This record gives sequence, structure tokens and C-alpha cells, in this order.
Amino acid sequence: MRLLLIEDHQRFAKHVKDGLEKVGFTVDVVETASGGEDAISTVQYDTIILDLGLPDSDGLSLLRSWRDKGDETPVLILTARDGIDDRVLGLNSGGDDYLLKPFAMEELIARIRALLRRPGGVLGLVITAGNVSFDTTAREVQVDERTIAIPRRELGVLEQLMRRNGRVVPKDVLEDKIYGFGKEISSNSVEVHVSRLRKRLAGAGANISVHTLRGVGYLLSEESPAAFSSGV
Ligand code: CA
Repeated sequence: MRLLLIEDHQRFAKHVKDGLEKVGFTVDVVETASGGEDAISTVQYDTIILDLGLPDSDGLSLLRSWRDKGDETPVLILTARDGIDDRVLGLNSGGDDYLLKPFAMEELIARIRALLRRPGGVLGLVITAGNVSFDTTAREVQVDERTIAIPRRELGVLEQLMRRNGRVVPKDVLEDKIYGFGKEISSNSVEVHVSRLRKRLAGAGANISVHTLRGVGYLLSEESPAAFSSGV
């Protein structure tokens, strides 16, 4: 597995590279956004680890330009910024996950492995969460092995949430995934689909639930709604 690390802090970059190579990854390091641009134009990386604060450009602009070109290489954002806005911005710009500095090497390795295992667009795959399974080819959902009927857009919402199980899915990303570009959509349309989906899942006895993070997005978790609200 070949990874690209775009990080201008040399000692930190070396530490990360060594840690990742110890567990078998191959890691290229570049220190600038332009170096990153060159690297990804010549190599197909399995995952890119991107620092947001780079000397020649903002990591987010770099990320946006890749996504605009249709490059879907998984990107894990490293950031010292911990404002919720930066995290949302990172995810909205096409980041797949983010990690706040400082972090434990084990955490970084676990996140990268999760990205590599992720079913990004792979067909013939059944995603499961709790007692719910989603057959991405047949577009069929089962709860405890009983098939339940879910309308198309709610199905789209559920798919995105299940593909990013346990991670926040920004509302904008959901909108982009369930509606084509240029579609007029009302501002509460996603909320309406989420709310119907919640009722449908609860009615079918699913032990997963969809949480709203106000102003941020949605999160799937394998807990009953009651357990979540008392725990947070
Ligand atoms: Ca930096």
C-alpha cells in the first residue's frame, strides 16, 4: 500500500513516515502543496494524508482541486485546528476523515486501515451496521434478515451513512449524493428524508440510529436512540 504524506514539518513527517513504514506501508513525503500536486499526477496513491497548513497553499484548496478533477483517492486530513467549522470545511471539501494533532500513531494507522477497507463505490458489496445490511448491488436493505422497503432518496441517505458508519456525514455531502447537480432542493429536504428514515428503521426494529449534529451533519451509530441521548 502506497501512501502520500503532505506535511511541511520535517521532524513530524519523519516520525509519521517511520511509524507507518513499521507496519508495512510505503510512504512518500512531500513538504509543499505543489510537491503534492506533482506526486499525485505521477503516482496512484492508496491514501493521501494531508496537513492543512502548508507553506505555499492551503491544504483545503489542494483537496478541492483534486476532487474537482474527479480524483477520489481517500484523503485523511491532519489538522491542529479544532474548530468545528474547519472539520466541516475539510469534510465538505472532499476529505474522507480527519485527525487532530497531536494523535497517537495507533490511531492514525487504524484510520488509514479503515479508509483502505472502505467500500468506496465498490459493487457487489453488502455493508452492515448493527442488525441492518445494505446490499449495494440489489439496493436492498434487510433488518434481521427481513427485507424492508425504503424509497430511493431515503435509501441514498442510508447508504451514505452506512458507508461512513460512525463518522459525521455533512448535510451538503448528503445533498450532493442524493440529488444530481443543478437540482433545486428545498432547504429542509434532507431533514425530511432523515426523519422518515429514522421512523422506518425504528419501525423495522433496527438497532442503529441516525443522529443529528446541528449545523454539521448526521452520524450513524449502532446504538438505540435512547442509549445515545442519555450518553451524550
Ligand atoms: Ca503544517
